[in-house]
Amino acid sequence: MRDQDILVGFVGLGNMGWPMARNLATGGIRLVVADAKDGVAEAFAAETGAIPAASLQELAHAAAVIILMLPNGDIVREVLLGDNGIAPHTNTGNLVIDMSSCDPVGTQEIGKALAEHGVEMLDAPVSGGVKRAVTGELAIMIGGEQGLYERVKPLLDLMGNKVFRAGPLGAGHAIKALNNYVSAAGLVAAADAVRIAARFGIAPGDAIDILNASSGRNNSTEVKFHQFILSETYNSGFSLSLMAKDIGIALEMAKEKGSFAPLLTQCLNLWREAGDHLPPDTDHTGIFKYLQERDGSGVR
Ligand code: NAD
Repeated sequence: MRDQDILVGFVGLGNMGWPMARNLATGGIRLVVADAKDGVAEAFAAETGAIPAASLQELAHAAAVIILMLPNGDIVREVLLGDNGIAPHTNTGNLVIDMSSCDPVGTQEIGKALAEHGVEMLDAPVSGGVKRAVTGELAIMIGGEQGLYERVKPLLDLMGNKVFRAGPLGAGHAIKALNNYVSAAGLVAAADAVRIAARFGIAPGDAIDILNASSGRNNSTEVKFHQFILSETYNSGFSLSLMAKDIGIALEMAKEKGSFAPLLTQCLNLWREAGDHLPPDTDHTGIFKYLQERDGSGVR
């Protein structure tokens, strides 16, 4: 898979896709790239030496392995199986790796449709945010056949340093959605604690420092509160709408299997309310502003 003759296609050069693809290029992988936004593929090519594809069909013809880093499963389906999509134009035996965060049932359907074109698929969503996408230290969770996973592991190792095979196709997307639910619930729990603490005369920064030295710490207290929330920059690079999408997937999974998940239901309602209330491009850390407003606490 590190063979210099293999051309890897990369579709979706956004907040995450750009640094992930750049790490592939830096690692010596020859890339052909595409993005729906005008000029993005060309800008990426100018920075890295990749080839900008004139169309998805051109990318499909050229690349033996195609990586997707797109907003959601509907867009993935359209890019792969739509009228102008990849599947009819890619060669038998080729492999699609969907690194976007999508719903596992949809992924299994897409995998079946791709198999009819002789194309194999892995789901390989990531965790770690833009910061770890830049440093190549993402966690990557794989769904799909062990043999396929082993084939592309060297490629994945250029983007992440904790790579797990979670199970069959869709398992990566399943555990990713559940991870983001736990992350989203942890952020809200810490946000509640900080606002309540302030009413007891505890400064927000002190509250976070104390949680971080104690059993209440989580990824949001350790990585997000000082940097993005208490600084009021709200610029982690992961949008609130994408987080709400992931929690929605987790709830659909619970419903599909008949699992009792009361906190998950409430968590999704809260994130959706915040999304309805805040501007559409709000960063997910901006939920703190919404909670402040609801609370009337004005914590700074
Ligand atoms: P983003 O919106 O920044 O990037 C998505 C890119 O896909 C954009 O450049 C967009 O132009 C492109 N795109 C959209 N539709 C397209 C199409 N039809 N054809 C080609 N390109 C198209 O999103 P992101 O933050 O990079 O997230 C990408 C995925 O990774 C999402 O599924 C998200 O949930 C997941 N994710 C994000 C983060 C994060 O911190 N941002 C972390 C882990 C996982």
